Amino acid sequence: MSPNNKCDLRCILCHRPLRRIGEDFTGKPIYKCHNCQYVCTTISTAAETAALYDDPEYFDGWGCNLDFDYDRFEPSVHQQVDDYLDFIAAHTHQGKSLLDVGTGSGLLPHLALRRGYDVEGTDLSKHVSQNVPAKGGFPVHHGTLEDIRFARKYDIITLLHVLEHTDDPLSMIGRCKELLNSEGYLVVVVPNYQSLDSRLKDALSKFKLKQRPYKHLALGHHNWVFSIKSLELLGEKCGLQIIYRETRQPAWRASAWHRLLGRFGLATWCWIVYRKGV
Ligand SMILES: [Zn+2]
Repeated sequence: MSPNNKCDLRCILCHRPLRRIGEDFTGKPIYKCHNCQYVCTTISTAAETAALYDDPEYFDGWGCNLDFDYDRFEPSVHQQVDDYLDFIAAHTHQGKSLLDVGTGSGLLPHLALRRGYDVEGTDLSKHVSQNVPAKGGFPVHHGTLEDIRFARKYDIITLLHVLEHTDDPLSMIGRCKELLNSEGYLVVVVPNYQSLDSRLKDALSKFKLKQRPYKHLALGHHNWVFSIKSLELLGEKCGLQIIYRETRQPAWRASAWHRLLGRFGLATWCWIVYRKGV
C-alpha cells in the first residue's frame, strides 16, 4: 500500500493510522485497521442515527411486524431468539436480571421472561419504547445507553446486532460495564468481518467484480464491522475478561458445512461473552 492510503483517522484500539481501502457503492469511505482487523466508515451524526432508528418502518421486514405480534413473526426469527437464549443459558452461570440493549421488536426479552429472567430493554426508537412494553410485558427505556438514567444494575446485558451501529463502541462497552453487577456478563453478537462470505465479497469488490461494491458491509447503517480479534481488544481495553468467543451462522442456516466454517472462525457472526470482575 502506498502512504497515500494512510489517513489522519486513528484506530480506536491501537491508535495506529487507519488505511482507506476503498468506498462502497454509495460512496461511503471504508477505513481499516490491519492490526486490529476491523473496518469502519465516517460516523453519522447523532441526529441522523436517531432519525434512522426512529422510523417505525425500520422494524418492519426482518421477519417481524410493526404491531409486535410475536406469534406472527417468521419461524426463523423465533429460532434465532431461541438460539440466543440457549447460548445465554449455557455461558452465563449466575444471575437472572437481563438488559437487552437496542431491543427492537423485543422478542428476546419477551421469551426470556418465560425462562424466568427479570428483563428490561432499551431502544432509540420511540415507536419501540411506546409500544413494546404492553406487547412484550417488560419496560423499555428510550434513548442511548449513555443518556438513560438507570435505577439499577444487571447480571446480564445483551448487545445483539447493536455494537456495529454505534458511533462509539468503547463508550458503549464501557457503559455496559458500569451497568453490570460485579461478575456480570456482557453478550455481544455482530457481523464477522473475517467470515468467508465477507472475505469473498471484499475481494470481488476490490477487483470491481461486484455490481454494488462492499454492499455486504451494510455501511448505510453499520458504522463498524468487527472481527473476533477486534472484539477481544475492545474488551481488554474496557477491562473486561473474555470468557468465550466463537463464530457462528444464523440459526436458520445451521448445517455441517456451516459448523465447519465456525470451527475455522469463518462463520457469519462473531459471538463473544465478556465478564466484569469482582
Ligand atoms: Zn488498531
